[in-house]
Amino acid sequence: MSIQMGILCEKCHTVHFIVTSHGIKPMPTPGMYVVSCGVCSERREFRTETMRPYRVSEEVFQTGHANEGEYFAIPPSAKNKS
Ligand SMILES: [Zn+2]
Repeated sequence: MSIQMGILCEKCHTVHFIVTSHGIKPMPTPGMYVVSCGVCSERREFRTETMRPYRVSEEVFQTGHANEGEYFAIPPSAKNKS
């Protein structure tokens, strides 16, 4: 398992990983990306700040996206622990 930054498709609850997903493209505006969800065809723009860490297996990460149940969202408070 590893922790990867991803963006959640709020329509079908698939997480797309910035590093491996082919559906995420940078936009002309700095810090903005567009994700085309290959699962439900939803297309949405997002800022890098809206990405969240998710714990996933290496196999799932390499496919570029994780279906609901294949990822574990890291709570925002977890990163304050040190
Ligand atoms: Zn979707």
